[in-house]
Amino acid sequence: MTAPFVDLHYECDPPGVILILEDEPYILAALYRQLPHEFHVVTATTVDQVLVLLNQRTVDVIVIGQRMAGVGIELLSEVRQHAPNTVWILLANCPALDTAIQASNLECIDAYLVRPLGSLELCTLLHEGIQEARLLIKNQQLLSELSQVKQQLEIQINQLKQELRNSQEQFQSVVRKNQAGILLLDEQGKILFANLAAETQLGRNDQMLIGSDFGIPVLHDKMEITILLPNRTQGIAELMATETQWQGQNAYLVMLHDVTRHKKAEAQARHLASHDSLTALPNRVLFTDRLNQALLRAQRSKTKAAVLFIDLNHFKEINDTLGHKVGDHLLQQFASRLAEAVRKSDTVARMGGDEFTVLLEGLNDRKQVSAFAKKLQKLFKQPFAMDNGELFAIPSIGISIYPDDAGNTDELLCRADSAMYYAKRHKEVDFCFYSKELDTHNLNRLSLEHDLRRALERQEFVLYYQIQVRLCDERPIGTEALVRWQHPSRGVVLPNDFIPLLEDTGLIIPVGNWILAEVCRQIAAWRAMDVDLVPVAVNISPKQLADKSFIGTMRGLLEHSNMQPRLLRLELTESAVMQDQSYIFQTLDALRELGIELHMDDFGVGYSSLGLLKQLPFDIVKVDQSFIVDVLTDSSSALLTQSIINIAHGLKKQVIAEGVETTEQAAYLLHIGCDHAQGWRYGQPIPAASMTDYLQNMECLNASASEED
Ligand code: C2E
Ligand code: MG
Ligand code: MG
Repeated sequence: MTAPFVDLHYECDPPGVILILEDEPYILAALYRQLPHEFHVVTATTVDQVLVLLNQRTVDVIVIGQRMAGVGIELLSEVRQHAPNTVWILLANCPALDTAIQASNLECIDAYLVRPLGSLELCTLLHEGIQEARLLIKNQQLLSELSQVKQQLEIQINQLKQELRNSQEQFQSVVRKNQAGILLLDEQGKILFANLAAETQLGRNDQMLIGSDFGIPVLHDKMEITILLPNRTQGIAELMATETQWQGQNAYLVMLHDVTRHKKAEAQARHLASHDSLTALPNRVLFTDRLNQALLRAQRSKTKAAVLFIDLNHFKEINDTLGHKVGDHLLQQFASRLAEAVRKSDTVARMGGDEFTVLLEGLNDRKQVSAFAKKLQKLFKQPFAMDNGELFAIPSIGISIYPDDAGNTDELLCRADSAMYYAKRHKEVDFCFYSKELDTHNLNRLSLEHDLRRALERQEFVLYYQIQVRLCDERPIGTEALVRWQHPSRGVVLPNDFIPLLEDTGLIIPVGNWILAEVCRQIAAWRAMDVDLVPVAVNISPKQLADKSFIGTMRGLLEHSNMQPRLLRLELTESAVMQDQSYIFQTLDALRELGIELHMDDFGVGYSSLGLLKQLPFDIVKVDQSFIVDVLTDSSSALLTQSIINIAHGLKKQVIAEGVETTEQAAYLLHIGCDHAQGWRYGQPIPAASMTDYLQNMECLNASASEED
């Protein structure tokens, strides 16, 4: 009991640890006796020992003996700080009561007991003390756990705050830099916020926009507004507005989506669906639509409307021989010249290929349409400048009139087409109005085709001859063989009405061979009759020239008839020589080698390729009669004729003017240097027998040819 660190064991559940600080052994023994047995008792005689013990173990209650009361309040208070959760009980006697009260007030001790000390009292005090001490510890632990949790929570809160700040910044930057324009409006439609895109789109900066009046937007419906694009051009934005709340007030959130590109693409798609991509003209769909509208207007205003169906002559040959690029270029130029010729209110369309249509509205009579068609024909007499020279694109024009010819779109188009078809087949016709007779004509064409197939075996073809003269003295220099069809019921059918049919059906080869053989036979007959012989020009169709057996046929004919080859001349059109050029060039060379003269027929209406004229072995160029017919009245025809003569002469070729009908034309042509002429002025095409008479009575230039035979 005297030893300072004596452990006294008492049963205790929960076991409590009591430290007794008392340096007087008998007081210590008295205390020990009074202590309840369930406690574990530790003793110390000095304050220092208390400190050592407190560092080593947990102590629930420290009982300070009455002799130790004098250790001093300051010392007690200092020691207490080492074990703040331990209950301190001071046993005081009466003289030390003041110290006990003071220590209690300063919270150096938790309780004090004044002698005599009752064991019951002490026991209760100890139990309470221990429980209080444990509670305090638990509280301490809880507090420290709580403070840890608090710390962790604070860290988490700080992290969350930071994240919130970041995401707010990100959100702001997303909104600010969003490509769509974003506006926040107050309830009255004033702008509270505008992002960068909205500033650009509205063409005003932040300061100008905030507070300005945007207006109350239409909700739940898309609207379109005009905006400024970043490149300062105008665009279109789709505006969508929704109601929202902003700082506790009703507000509107407005989104401005730039849909300029989308709108442009839509417009482009609409344009593509209704326009031709090559020429940018309206296509068939749009034309039909406009025609429908025009018919309604014409009906209301009791005026007429006209449909012109226009098709380019020889376009297929240009495409096949000069290539699609040249063909496309020509179509584009043709389209723009055609479009320039009409009023803004009229429509020009490309129906496909080389087919165009024109819709004229607000007409009172057909004369207005005739005048327009004439204007077109004149317009297209001018060649088109191409990369490698000039090209002609002469149109065939068919016309139908509303309401005279038809009452609906389909029939008007069909009838204009049928009239165009007629114009194409008849070179002498510049343009053609639809008439009922045309239908009969087209029907006739069908029966004609049927008859044509049997015409050769029935020997219904005959040759007429037309004289060609030298202009300076009008002496004959040759004749041209022109085929006629003696139809059993129709009478004489002219070549323009059946040559295209012969070509379409392929019959041109056997019929062409017959013509050549017949011409050779006629020359032989004239020779036998001893008439002045002049060379005979035979028209050769493009299909004949391209036929692989042509050279063989010619050679056979010459050998068989034993005839001077120069008595035979071949008239070829430009379209004939524009075909598969390398083959045609060889054929022409082979013909020249056979000694046959080549004439370029109808020059000026086709491609009029001067390059080709230079390259090819032609001896004579025939200026088309469409130029001669108005050579005295139309300056462009005169200019063209003059140019062809000059160029031909430059290339050492002679020129024959076709279709010379008057003395004035002849005089003018002589004046501008034309060499020869052919036309009614000198004689119409006549049957062989009549030509025989003519030749017998004329002194021909080529009389020497017969002498040589
Ligand atoms: P082409 O070779 O240019 O023949 C000239 C055409 O002009 C002929 O018409 C002739 O009768 C006509 N003509 C001649 N002088 C005058 C005139 O002063 N005024 C007018 N208005 N016309 C005149 P035709 O005989 O009807 O022949 C038309 C076309 O048919 C020919 O044009 C030619 O391309 C073709 N053709 C005629 N015969 C044959 C042939 O045997 N074979 C081939 N393949 N085609 C032929
Ligand atoms: Mg001819
Ligand atoms: Mg001709």
